[in-house]
Amino acid sequence: MESDAIRWISVNGEKNAATLNLVKGDSVYGEKLVKHEGEEYRLWDPFRSKLAAALKKGMKNMPIKNGSKVLYLGASTGTTVSHVSDIVGPSGIVFAVEPATRVARELIENVASKRKNVLPILEDARKPQSYFAVFGKVDVVYCDIAQPDQTDIAIANCAAYLKQGGVMLLVVKTRSIDVTMDPRAVVTQEASKLEKNGFAIEQIINLEPFDRDHGMIYCIFRS
Ligand code: SAM
Repeated sequence: MESDAIRWISVNGEKNAATLNLVKGDSVYGEKLVKHEGEEYRLWDPFRSKLAAALKKGMKNMPIKNGSKVLYLGASTGTTVSHVSDIVGPSGIVFAVEPATRVARELIENVASKRKNVLPILEDARKPQSYFAVFGKVDVVYCDIAQPDQTDIAIANCAAYLKQGGVMLLVVKTRSIDVTMDPRAVVTQEASKLEKNGFAIEQIINLEPFDRDHGMIYCIFRS
């Protein structure tokens, strides 16, 4: 899949995803900047970003597009947020939720201060009613918070902010949910919880070898 903001660029014989750099000359986490067809792109490392890993592992359809409004839970220092910011571009917006102050400081200094389309929200995703900065409904909810109750948290955030027919991308860290269960069974269990809560499962992507014991569920919000 290729859009204007996402390109597959060959580097040392390997095809790598890259995003059109919204802030020319700026490398956020040490990623390489490359020129492609006269534009500057940032290489997107699948070992550093689970969204890049999902693309590399065959995500059928990228729901985040130019102009998208995205609610991003678990922004951390902004590695993936920065690429999402490139993709949505100046007409889109990324509401980036992160409660840990140490990493949120880096998110603000390295990402939000330079990218006007990133709005940091220093809150716990367990309290979606406290995000006063979020206006209207969003097109996509991305959830990567590595908590045992992450699916319930994601569902509550979608109920509050995701539009009908919007997409939720849920990163499932199977070891955070149950270390004793087979990782595939954990992902299936979380997918069936989503179905019971009005989501249609479009795709389940195993993120190995980029992330061990991680899967991504791509689902559509129906109610
Ligand atoms: N998504 C990031 C990326 O790709 O660059 C990495 C996210 S990291 C695996 C998980 C993040 O979730 C941490 O920064 C952690 O502080 C955050 N987190 C944990 N519990 C949370 C909660 N209840 N609400 C929001 N974020 C949470």
